[in-house]
Amino acid sequence: MREPGEARITVLGSGTSTGVPVVGCSCPVCLSRDPRDRRSRCGIHVACEGFGLQIDVSPDFREQALRHRFGRVDAVVVTHCHADHVLGLDDLRRFNTIQGTQISLHAAPATMRGIERIFGYLVKPPPEQAGMYRAKIDFRETGDEPFECGPFLVRLFDVPHGPAHASAVEVRAGSRRLVAATDCSEIPPALADAMRGADVVLLDGLRHRPHAAHLTVERASEALLASGCKRPFLIHLGHDIPHARLLAELPPPVRPAFDGLVLPL
Ligand SMILES: [Zn+2]
Ligand SMILES: [Zn+2]
Ligand SMILES: [Zn+2]
Repeated sequence: MREPGEARITVLGSGTSTGVPVVGCSCPVCLSRDPRDRRSRCGIHVACEGFGLQIDVSPDFREQALRHRFGRVDAVVVTHCHADHVLGLDDLRRFNTIQGTQISLHAAPATMRGIERIFGYLVKPPPEQAGMYRAKIDFRETGDEPFECGPFLVRLFDVPHGPAHASAVEVRAGSRRLVAATDCSEIPPALADAMRGADVVLLDGLRHRPHAAHLTVERASEALLASGCKRPFLIHLGHDIPHARLLAELPPPVRPAFDGLVLPL
């Protein structure tokens, strides 16, 4: 693979499914004035050589696009069909209009079935939808093999997510690698292998207390340290721990992600 120019990773959303602040909650994190404690739902944008790759389209995607002003979305990867990762799909329409192009969407078969159930009118548009303003998406089911996506080589692989499964995503830009596993409850060997020596890893680290579908801060930090990855971050954060305290507690180089975090790759 050729070596593309520098890529720019933007963490659009660092929060768990409720978002932080949580509606109606008056805990210290939800009332915090530190902007890093405002955690919108998960999303990651990777831009390189004018190509925009979007990982997950949360219900906050529209606000994230307004805030971060990324110019293009050429391809989307969806990690799994939970509401906090897919419900912004409709807002891709605006990028169809700006770009005058279709957008490719890549997801594992089980995720694609879920997307079909929610967004049937996009996957198999009924005749009465003709002429309606709807997102133009080229749905492409992925297997285990890496696929070319603009300047990137992308690979999705399965990780346990409580009783369900999600995809972890590896994005290669030449010899540099991003690994994102925003929703996972265990570290299977495939994820440990992918994280080893990666340039940037964004790993689920919901909170200290155990959760059936997510990693704890301790388990995620331990795995990140063991991986030897260069820039390790926790993501999918709840409202249990303020950013400043988490930053102070974590063993370097592990850090908490926050909305608006920009990382070169
Ligand atoms: Zn999630
Ligand atoms: Zn709270
Ligand atoms: Zn999930």
